[in-house]
This record gives sequence, structure tokens and C-alpha cells, in this order.
Amino acid sequence: MNLLSNRISREVLQPGDHIYAYRKAHTYSHHGIYVGEGWVIHFVNTKGKGKTSSKRKPRCSDCKNDPNTARGVVKTCIDCFLKGHGLFRFEYNVSHDRFNIKNKGTCSTESCYPGGETVRRASEIFDKDPTHGTGFGEYDLLKNNCENFASYCKRGTNVSEQVVRVSSVGNSFADSSNSSSTSSAASPTGIDDAATSKTAFLISKATSFFSSVS
Ligand SMILES: [Zn+2]
Repeated sequence: MNLLSNRISREVLQPGDHIYAYRKAHTYSHHGIYVGEGWVIHFVNTKGKGKTSSKRKPRCSDCKNDPNTARGVVKTCIDCFLKGHGLFRFEYNVSHDRFNIKNKGTCSTESCYPGGETVRRASEIFDKDPTHGTGFGEYDLLKNNCENFASYCKRGTNVSEQVVRVSSVGNSFADSSNSSSTSSAASPTGIDDAATSKTAFLISKATSFFSSVS
């Protein structure tokens, strides 16, 4: 077990948990709020959903989510949220020591609302416009993304630390060619937070520390 990893199993999920899952060879993570009974409220890109017919994906048989048209603040089953990737829980109230050795965008030293209040805040935004999901405004990768939404629901401040991370290392989204293939060898659990550091964090100041723990 890797003590630095936030990976969890579904059985321990609690309503109000701020959760995330990695996407695209671990170059970024998608965040959301677990609201109980298998449902997640999350904020997906409001633009660029004009998929051609050959790339269209089927509607979810469980939650009826249509991935081809879903946008804005959506409420889906956890499978639609994870898209086959591992489940992680964002940590709050971590010590400064722990914060300094973990990937940005995985934890915070700040306190957070209790689960019930977090669920209420996420539901309030979703309920503003369940059809079009406009309750949190337009999606913006740098200023208003999925992590901003989850952060706002969970602690009341609109923060995206992974964007700070990416901004600080330049356009590292393109540097994903070898990230996924190294994770299983680097960690006994296969995919975890420490292994993901192989991508954007390679260039960051934390590189030397992470190589010693993964
Ligand atoms: Zn679904």
C-alpha cells in the first residue's frame, strides 16, 4: 500500500466526498462531488461536444447520461464519472509536510465543509439548471474547470491546483507519451498518485522527492 496515494475503493465513499479520476494517460484529473447512492455531480466542458457520428458513444444504460451531449454541471452514475479509470479521493486538512510531498491537485491544508453541506452545495448548483447545466457558468480550462467546481462545493473557495501545476511547468499536456507505461512498474498498486508524477511533475521542483517515494 502506498501511503501517499489517495486511491480508494467505492465501498468507503461517503456522500460529500471530493473525488477525482485521471484521464488521458494521467495528464490531468477530472473532479467531482460524490452525492450518495452511486451518483456524482461534476462539471464537464461546455464546449467542443460536436462529435461526428463515427465517434459517438452510447448513452449510459444506468443513469441515461449521454456522453455526446452532456455539458456543464451534470449528475451521472459513478461509472460515467470514472470512465473506467481508478477512483481517488481529494484530501483536506493535511499537514504542510504531507502537502509538500504530494501532487498538487490531490490534497489541501485547508479545512472543508461536512459531507452534508457539500452535497447541498453541489445539488444547489446542479438544480439551478438540470437540463443545460449552466449553474456554474461557462467551462474554462484555466479559470473555471471541474476542480474549481468541486473545490467551491467542498470548501467554498474556487481553486484549481492542477492548473497552477500545469501553468508552472508550461504546456505539459503534450508530454504524455510514456506516462502510463511506467506506472505499473513504479508502484505495487499499479496506478496511484505517486506514479502519475511521472508526467507534469517531472519538470517541477518536487521531482527528486517523488522519485524517491514512487
Ligand atoms: Zn452512467
